[in-house]
Amino acid sequence: MSHAHPSSPLSEAEMQRCKTQLLERARALVMQDADLRARLAEGESATSNTFVAGTEGGQATEADDEVIALLRREQGELKSVAEALERLEQGHYGLCVECGEAIAAQRLAVLPEAALCVGCQDMAEHRAAHGGEHR
Ligand SMILES: [Zn+2]
Repeated sequence: MSHAHPSSPLSEAEMQRCKTQLLERARALVMQDADLRARLAEGESATSNTFVAGTEGGQATEADDEVIALLRREQGELKSVAEALERLEQGHYGLCVECGEAIAAQRLAVLPEAALCVGCQDMAEHRAAHGGEHR
């Protein structure tokens, strides 16, 4: 083994497949994003069946909160997808960004934008669950 830098554990064909998946995912997310923004822009006006007269003060409705939460998640996912595509371009896709170990192929098949191996993901979730720090 004389490779100077770590390279992806995936074959060319697997990388191509992941790239296709990631691009499709990105497209779907961008469309969802536009859709959610449109819903937000419509605001209170379009809730035909739950029309409430006289809600002054521009309070965010529960529906708005939900849309905003969805929008945040879309953007987070889109970022992960974009980063995964970047790793693909740089040739270290499929390696854990935390510890550098190869991410299991089955994991990538389910979650092509995965940046962490199962072990590091567990630790990250553990940290998040116990969340001492807030960003
Ligand atoms: Zn790891």
